[in-house]
Amino acid sequence: RAAASLIVVSNRLPFVLKREEDGTLTRKASAGGLVTAVAPVVVDNHGIWVGWTGLDDFDEETEVIPESSPDDKAPTAGLRPDQAIPLSVNPKLFDEYYNGCCNETYWPLFHSMPDRAVFNRDHWKAYQDVNDIFAQKTLEAVRSVHEKRMAIPDCSRPDPPIVWIHDYHLMLAANAIRDGCNDEGLQVRMGFFLHIPFPSFDIIRIFPWVDEILMGMLGCDLVGFHIGDYCLNFLDCCQRCLGCRTDKNKMFVEHCGRRVMVRALPIGIPYHKFESLSRIAPRVFPSDMKIILGVDRLDYTKGLVARLKSLERMFKKYPKWIGKAIFIQVAVPSRVDVAEYKELKETIDRLVGHINGEFSTPSWSPIRYIFGSVNQDQLVAFYRDANVGLITPLRDGMNLVAKEFVACQSESDPGVLILSPFAGAGGLMQEALQVNPYETDNVADVVDRALEMSLDERKLRMNQLKKREKRMDVDAWVRSFLSGMDSLLVPSVRPN
Ligand code: UDP
Repeated sequence: RAAASLIVVSNRLPFVLKREEDGTLTRKASAGGLVTAVAPVVVDNHGIWVGWTGLDDFDEETEVIPESSPDDKAPTAGLRPDQAIPLSVNPKLFDEYYNGCCNETYWPLFHSMPDRAVFNRDHWKAYQDVNDIFAQKTLEAVRSVHEKRMAIPDCSRPDPPIVWIHDYHLMLAANAIRDGCNDEGLQVRMGFFLHIPFPSFDIIRIFPWVDEILMGMLGCDLVGFHIGDYCLNFLDCCQRCLGCRTDKNKMFVEHCGRRVMVRALPIGIPYHKFESLSRIAPRVFPSDMKIILGVDRLDYTKGLVARLKSLERMFKKYPKWIGKAIFIQVAVPSRVDVAEYKELKETIDRLVGHINGEFSTPSWSPIRYIFGSVNQDQLVAFYRDANVGLITPLRDGMNLVAKEFVACQSESDPGVLILSPFAGAGGLMQEALQVNPYETDNVADVVDRALEMSLDERKLRMNQLKKREKRMDVDAWVRSFLSGMDSLLVPSVRPN
């Protein structure tokens, strides 16, 4: 039998659209592991991707011209126009859903920072409406996959399609898709994956409409999170908010007569791509200087202010590093129109100036700060040439930078990874030096320890880290999600 079709539903389509001078729209694959790993599976299995186009004025009738060259290496190159269902949303509604509910409510709340969260009834209504638009578009996709499936002789007909819903933007879409499929007699298996943390009951209960969110996620047959802790939080919340029966050994929730599987599926990176790029990238930093590297979006969850204060402490406490080590921070601009993010940038700008003023010599400054993004060739060279990767988020769903840093390290003279336990990656990458980002003094000590670490210890730690990331790369993540879906081959039906 042929592999079942995969219908992916995510806030954004896997490509960015560009309006050319003649008014036509062309597309370019989005960067990132998710698109690299999932788009080829959609292409190969005659699947469909449903998502927003990124354009306020997109007309759904407009033709989108795919990547020009047939042998284009872009992961979306083989995706035919009928395999991408673009969705347009009224800009005001989209703003309330995306900037309002997703970024101002869920982002801080799910990162356990409730003081930053805004609770607004209009934003919540917009979230419900936009999720319904996504659900109706997904139903179109399910119908079209079924029409093609029915044209195949029964004996070789593939299993029912899989709908894979991504992330906190779309936690409510599943039930409307399920109801629509039930009404039309269309079989479907549904999975959801959350790319950010799932917080504890004490935090999530602050959201006034938490029951609806949990029931929305439970509309799927499988709900995946990065790590076991997020799974346990989810089970706990389902039990305490909804009164569901849950099983923490077999990892399921019973809801409305259905059994929903809950799984820890830690995402990986395209390991081989990073490793091979890092082997050929030219050197970027002088080899007589020790390099401590941070790479993050400029977001309050990433702990940049605390990290800078730790570096200040480090240069004060260990003056032997003055003139000998520098800290390079790449801070990728994010949500730049939002006041909270502007203020954070100003705080960081001031702190960098203050620390550089305090320690600089005529020929050396302790901090090199890049507010911007670097291209992939440069990024892999930064990773490879760094002696220390300093990754200290206050809270992070997984943190891919930690994994990319590991993939780019040389085997003969590797650097050291310092990682916060509050990133999903923290619990998994056990050979990293763990450090609590709130403990400024301790971070300073650990950075010194990393800079002084012997070659033998560095190799021992890094080679274990590399082995794990190679094995658990992003393709393995897609395979484990799909095999989880295959274990559900008798689809459950939600009783009315
Ligand atoms: N990244 C990038 N350009 C840069 C710096 C980083 O595209 O200049 C990428 C990096 O390679 C990584 C991603 O941004 O894949 C950040 O992912 P992570 O999980 O660490 O954090 P997120 O931004 O998703 O919270």
